[in-house]
Amino acid sequence: MRRDYYAVLGITSTAGPREVRQAFRRLARQYSPDVNFWDAQAQTLFEEIAEAYRVLNDPGARALYDRFGTALAEGEALGAGQRGEDVHVSIDLDFADVARGARVHVEVPRFLPCADCRATGQADGARCGACHGRGVRRVIEPVTVAVPAGVDAGVQIRVPGEGSAGPFGGPRGDLLVSTRVAEHPFFARKGDSVHCEVPITVWEALQGARIRVPTPAGEAALVVPPGTAGGRMFRLRGQGLPKLAADGTGDLYVTVRVELPAGLDARTYELVRELERLLPLEPRAALARYRGGAA
Ligand SMILES: [Zn+2]
Repeated sequence: MRRDYYAVLGITSTAGPREVRQAFRRLARQYSPDVNFWDAQAQTLFEEIAEAYRVLNDPGARALYDRFGTALAEGEALGAGQRGEDVHVSIDLDFADVARGARVHVEVPRFLPCADCRATGQADGARCGACHGRGVRRVIEPVTVAVPAGVDAGVQIRVPGEGSAGPFGGPRGDLLVSTRVAEHPFFARKGDSVHCEVPITVWEALQGARIRVPTPAGEAALVVPPGTAGGRMFRLRGQGLPKLAADGTGDLYVTVRVELPAGLDARTYELVRELERLLPLEPRAALARYRGGAA
């Protein structure tokens, strides 16, 4: 059993590269074979120190040692069967991906079996030069991730077997994909419900109208009844987003906004005034009773 490399150098696992070098220089002076030529134990210790320094001073070797221990950093045969690490990546989705689901290509950095030595770490009786005896090599390559419709931000999608290879032929870890979802300029999401605001004309508000409104899946008809006030909300069942963990689809809530005509000229101004005279209305009359906070 090899000793812990950090313990050998007398440092903690959070030590920076400078600390590693300083610890090595101090110990090397102390245990150098030149100084301790009479002491076999010192020589063994010096070899351990040199080995610990070689691994901890190489960022790649140190990362492997931190994750897998001495066996992988040194390229010794571990019993096969140690599972590779899970690999975490994030993906950015837009509203259309959420509405319809998507196949997203993501660059995944991971360790894969070394092809040169068939993951053994050995070549011609020596260490494989391609993987430095580790049996695995770090590669970055695209992986296609199937994103289900209805996915939300902060969801973790697990892709089994697409993580790092286990050392020396061990099974693959999983790929864990975290989702980020960009906001949409028109649709606002609340769970599987979707909210939006649709403008209508004064005429449509008074007369009623059958209008077309965008939906996450395409388009739908909305019947605006005569006398619809601005701010009224309509529910379109099943026109929201697909439910992620269940069958069915959420609802779309459409709030109408009455768009006022701009640029009245003298004639239209007179017509509006005439309308106000013909249809007198006191919309705030009932509010008088609430003055001063009365209930
Ligand atoms: Zn190799």
